[in-house]
Amino acid sequence: MTTRRNILKGAVALGGAAAFVGGYSETGKRLAKGLATGSSGTAPLDHITINAHAPEYRVDAKTGDLVMNPDQQISFTMCQGCNTMCGLRIRSDKETGQVIRVAGNPYHPLSADAQIPYSTPVREALLSLTRKGESGLDHRSTACGRGNAMLSQMNSPHRVLKCLKRDGPRGSGKWKSIPFEQLVEEVVEGGDLFGEGPVEGLRAIRDLKTPLDPENPEYGPKANQLLVLNATGDGRNPFIKRFAFNCFGTRNYGNHGSYCGFAMRAGSGAVMGDFKKFAHGKPDFENTEFAIFIGSAPGNAGKPFKRSGRMVAEARTSGKLNYVVVDPVLTNATSYAAHDRDRWLPIKPGTDAAFAMAMIRWIIDNERYDAKFLSNAGPAGVKATGEAGWSNAAHLVNVKSGKLLTGADMGWPEEQAKDFVVLDETGTAVSHKQLATAAALFFDGSVETANGPVAVKTSLQILADEARRFSVAEYADLCGIKPEMIEALAQEFTSHGKRAAINNHGGMMSSNGFYTAWSVLMLNVLIGNWNWKGGVSVSGGGYPAFGKGPRYNMKKFPDMVKPKGVFLSRSKFPYQKSSEFKRRKAAGQSPYPTKAPWYPFSPPILTEYLTSHFDGYPYKLKAMISFMANPLYGQAGLNAAIGEKMKDPKELGLYVAIDGFINETSALADYIVPDSVMYEAWGWAKPWNGTVTKCSTARWPISDPKQAKTADGQPVTLEMFLIAIGKRMDLPGFGDKVIPDSDGNLHPLNRPEDWYLRAGANVAFAGKPVAEASDDDIELAGIGRIMPDIEKTLKPEEQRRVAYVYARGGRMEDYAKAYDGEKLTHAYPKPLLVYNQKVGTSVNTISGKRFIGVPTWYPQQLADGTPLRAVYPESEWPLQLTSFKSNLQSSYSMASPVLRSIQPDNPVSINPQDAEKAGVKSGDKVRIVTPGGSQLATALVRNGVAPGVVAIPHGYGHWELGARGHNIDGVQQPDMPELAAGVALNLIGLQDPHRGGHATLGDWVVGSAARQALPVRIEKV
Ligand code: SF4
Repeated sequence: MTTRRNILKGAVALGGAAAFVGGYSETGKRLAKGLATGSSGTAPLDHITINAHAPEYRVDAKTGDLVMNPDQQISFTMCQGCNTMCGLRIRSDKETGQVIRVAGNPYHPLSADAQIPYSTPVREALLSLTRKGESGLDHRSTACGRGNAMLSQMNSPHRVLKCLKRDGPRGSGKWKSIPFEQLVEEVVEGGDLFGEGPVEGLRAIRDLKTPLDPENPEYGPKANQLLVLNATGDGRNPFIKRFAFNCFGTRNYGNHGSYCGFAMRAGSGAVMGDFKKFAHGKPDFENTEFAIFIGSAPGNAGKPFKRSGRMVAEARTSGKLNYVVVDPVLTNATSYAAHDRDRWLPIKPGTDAAFAMAMIRWIIDNERYDAKFLSNAGPAGVKATGEAGWSNAAHLVNVKSGKLLTGADMGWPEEQAKDFVVLDETGTAVSHKQLATAAALFFDGSVETANGPVAVKTSLQILADEARRFSVAEYADLCGIKPEMIEALAQEFTSHGKRAAINNHGGMMSSNGFYTAWSVLMLNVLIGNWNWKGGVSVSGGGYPAFGKGPRYNMKKFPDMVKPKGVFLSRSKFPYQKSSEFKRRKAAGQSPYPTKAPWYPFSPPILTEYLTSHFDGYPYKLKAMISFMANPLYGQAGLNAAIGEKMKDPKELGLYVAIDGFINETSALADYIVPDSVMYEAWGWAKPWNGTVTKCSTARWPISDPKQAKTADGQPVTLEMFLIAIGKRMDLPGFGDKVIPDSDGNLHPLNRPEDWYLRAGANVAFAGKPVAEASDDDIELAGIGRIMPDIEKTLKPEEQRRVAYVYARGGRMEDYAKAYDGEKLTHAYPKPLLVYNQKVGTSVNTISGKRFIGVPTWYPQQLADGTPLRAVYPESEWPLQLTSFKSNLQSSYSMASPVLRSIQPDNPVSINPQDAEKAGVKSGDKVRIVTPGGSQLATALVRNGVAPGVVAIPHGYGHWELGARGHNIDGVQQPDMPELAAGVALNLIGLQDPHRGGHATLGDWVVGSAARQALPVRIEKV
């Protein structure tokens, strides 16, 4: 009905348009002209769709069948717009190969709400996305905004297309192109490559016999002096690892995890008893009734980024989910359109552990934990209770040694020697494996062992004691959230049975990140929600592409090397077994503190690799190969610490970067190897945990790589470079007979296809093999492009099945398999740890004291335990810096003109109270100063940031990636200052002033980078 009110609104709108045209007459004229004849003065192609590309297909109105656009090709492959690696549907121009548009793959769980059944023919899959039968909305499958825009990378003017050798000092931005074969020769053989003196090549460095340091033979052979860096798990990393570990034989390989979100993974590894793969879980977003997000913002960041954002939006809209976002910054994770279904609770940066420990304390004190789950001490308990797993909450811990009490301590028979000891309802010590009734959850006393009485506590008792170090009110004071609010949240969190979850991610990256992440995740253990629908999901996992698969063994090959020695980051190796420890003890000295921390349960960490090299502890490198890695931009404080040193070839002899672009780190390389980007490359990846069904995503070249070719016509890529190095050096693992099949026959690895297609055969044949692709599947999904490679590489019985997998963009388990009643089908099989013995018995090599084996509260601190505020007092640094992520920009997406046009800058958020004190208003230029540096920024004064906090979105302020033009063969690229817009958050990260050397500030237990909760002040410019 047209009401008077609506008529008036319309009149106002018309008046507004008239005023607009009047005020901007030229724009108005163009607007009017555009409506009639197109904005460029040419009539648009269509009066409704204007100049949009013709659709890739349509449905014939009479027959209901699919009619393909003969000029376009559809293919299903993988996105690389961020680390989520979603499955996409790509539309490209058949004639030019140009990618036109990207959308979601309806078979893929990261892109579709409930993916279509895997057996669906491609024709039916495409029809399911249309209005035929009105199924399109149900099967809507999307790429996110960033995924849509990143195709611009393929034709970027800053793309590296040739093999480059520096033609001036490192970092000068001057390069000359050289043939691929020359690059390989120089990198392998070394020599006076730059007229600056001799450079050791890879051949000389690869010595697998001679110790790199005879005084410390445990450091391993000289081959460890090559460092191989990778950006992320993009589906090509197993190839790099094979080269580094098993062909070349260096111990030192790492990726960006330790300066991205490793604190979360480490805390998760502690809860899940997995310091090998650092298992982790995510809420089963679709079925959770109540969630707390802390240090994690679904829809803004975290992985799986798109899936979690989409599912949270859906769940809050449909009314299934209530959630609270605990964060110093209001992000898109909170939607006020959803009314009170979601709430934002501001918290002081770096105090999440205080919040979590307060909840732990309240839950224990008020007996709101899941006693049935926690008192179930082992497999017999699981059987009796129907729980989906068990924990060590009731297991006894020897207070003095920090070790879990075992059957061996009790003098039980040999077959029970490794069993853990729990107390049954009568107080009798029994094996955790045998007790089918409830074990005692709390005990603090002594038990009689084979060697007499021993003081013990249960794991949960230790946690309770640790939580009770502070009252809820004291914790509340630390984190800035009222005690009654904490208690109300704890009450609500424990009121949904298994259908509640707490989730964390990159917001844990502070100097107390490990214990913070651990304390947050312990809340999930207390409500026993692991492996339950609506609780915490580990992952459906992937199919064994690169393992010992059903068709090929991609992990083992003749003469493969097993790398040896201490990681350069001093990870995993027990310092107490080192020569240094023994020397110091023998000399009557204290073995502590060490020059830098050793990390007893961390994996090799990139945060420590480069700084350790420049500090020479434990040893120095001679060469580095990086693949897309960009630590100088990505690691807080690293550029200030080592940026200049990286420019000095005397400090690091040889640096080869493999990348399609020149980033802040690869700009300092000696050589750059060009690579395929986005939809030109091969790969196999599995989704980030939290995806409830099994999935392996295929990446394959749907477009011809644009970069230079080798002498025999192969595009130069990461893989071709490593293969060429391997062949020139005669390394094992490359050449004609190096990939064993299941019959023991050996197959070649001379091209990327040899590797990825055989991995595809493993995916296709895992479990029950997939069906064979029909001609129609092959035609509609563009597989004809790679069929010649498939036929050339694979056995006849493999070819059509592998084509079936590529035609669907990977292999995906059906959504119907996600749940088994109220439980998740893919359960985490190991027990959850309330007390972690590995942590509780490991020694901090700076203090010489044991770590605490349960979650606890620590303030921000340096590696030697000095509180950060003792060094950087509030009087001088009154605010705290925190970071967050844009939902569009990532650390490398600034190069996309579309994304830049939407979010060109990252103004710095400041609370009105702090802005008033500093005399700053929105739009003012301010200087953001930390003890690590300063940056000019634009102020954004808003209530969506907690008082006392300065918040900066990550991904801006580049000084390379095109911001600076490079000179290649005498041709100068233009500078693009728009890429440098905004603040580079990590340029104002901190170094640890008490460690000496070059170390950046990190978590003192696991070495992850600290980019949250940093001392800061703002100055009006
Ligand atoms: S979340 Fe977006 S950018 Fe990231 S992989 Fe998925 S579609 Fe691409």
